[in-house]
Amino acid sequence: MLETTIAGSLPRPDWLAEPEKLKGGWKLSGQELEDGKRRAAAEWIRHQEEAGIDILTDGEVFRKHFVHTFLEGIEGIDQNKKTLMGIRDDRYNLEVPTVTSAVKRPKAVHVEEFKYVRSLTDRKLKFTLPGPMTICDTIADGHYGKRADMAMAFAELLNAEAKELVAAGADIIQFDEPAFNVFFDDVNEWGVAALERAAEGLSCPRAVHICYGYGIEENLKWKETLGDEWRQYEKIFPALNASSIDQISLECADSHVPHSVMSILKDKIVMVGAVAVTPDRVETPEEVAETLRSAMRYVDAERIRPCTNCGMTPIPYDIAQGKLKSLVAGANLLRDSLPH
Ligand code: ZN
Repeated sequence: MLETTIAGSLPRPDWLAEPEKLKGGWKLSGQELEDGKRRAAAEWIRHQEEAGIDILTDGEVFRKHFVHTFLEGIEGIDQNKKTLMGIRDDRYNLEVPTVTSAVKRPKAVHVEEFKYVRSLTDRKLKFTLPGPMTICDTIADGHYGKRADMAMAFAELLNAEAKELVAAGADIIQFDEPAFNVFFDDVNEWGVAALERAAEGLSCPRAVHICYGYGIEENLKWKETLGDEWRQYEKIFPALNASSIDQISLECADSHVPHSVMSILKDKIVMVGAVAVTPDRVETPEEVAETLRSAMRYVDAERIRPCTNCGMTPIPYDIAQGKLKSLVAGANLLRDSLPH
C-alpha cells in the first residue's frame, strides 16, 4: 500500500548538462555523451532505490526535452522550419519545429536506453512519454489542418513505441499531458480519445500525468492568475474517470487545488503529488504525510500512490534527492499511523 513513485524527470547532473534549466545544453558529445547519459541514469536509479522509491523512472536524463527528444526520432517533421507559437494557450512563446507531412516512426526512439535502465534494477520501472495533445501543443502543424487529426496520428506512433517498451520490460507506461489543464473543451472532444489510442492494447497499467507545469517563472506567474481555488481538474476528471486509463496523477502539494476533486476519480489509482517541484526547499516528512492524509478523505489508501507534483528537471540535484527521501519518509509516517 502507498507505493511511492515520481512524475518522471530528475535533474541532469552538472557534469552532463547545464543544470537547473529546462533545456540546458549537453556538456559532452559523441560517445562520451552517450556514456554520460547512462552513468547519470544509473546514479539516479541508485538514488531512487536508496531513498526507497517503489516505482522508478530513468529520470528522463537521456532527453534534452520531454517532447522534442521524442519528436527528433519522428519523420514528417522539419526540425529546421521553425514556427513561433504560443504554448499552453499563449503562456509563453517558443520557436518550434513544423510538421510538414504525415508523421512516421522509422524505428524505436527510447527503447535502447530503456533496455539499459531495465538491466539496472529489479524494482518496478515506469516509462514516460509525451501525450498526443501536449505534443500537438508543442509543435507547429503545416500538414494536418486539425489538431485532433494530428493528435491521432501521433497517438498511433506513441502506441507502437509504448508496445515495444512494454515488451522490453516496462511495468507502467505514463503519458504526460500538461496541456489537459489548459484546453478543457478539446480534452473532452478529442484529447481523452487520443490518449486512449496511445494507450490501446498495452498489457501493463497505463497512466496520465497532468500538472500545472515545472516550477519555472512563466508557470509560477500563470499560477498567480488562477485565483484561490484551482478547479481545472474538475473539468477533465469526469472524462478521464470514464476512460480506460488506469492511473491519474495530480498536483496537490503546495497548490490551490481543492483536494475534493479527487472524489471524481472513483476507481482509478491516484498519484497524489505530495512534494512540489519548487527549487528552494525540501518538504518535511510531516508535510508529505499531511498532504496524503488529506487525499485519503477522498480516495481509499489502497488507490493512493505518493508522487511528486511534476518533473524535477529544473531544480537543484541535492534538493531533488532530498524530496525523494521526504516523499518516502512521509508515506512511511502515514502507513505507520494507519490501523494494521
Ligand atoms: Zn508535470
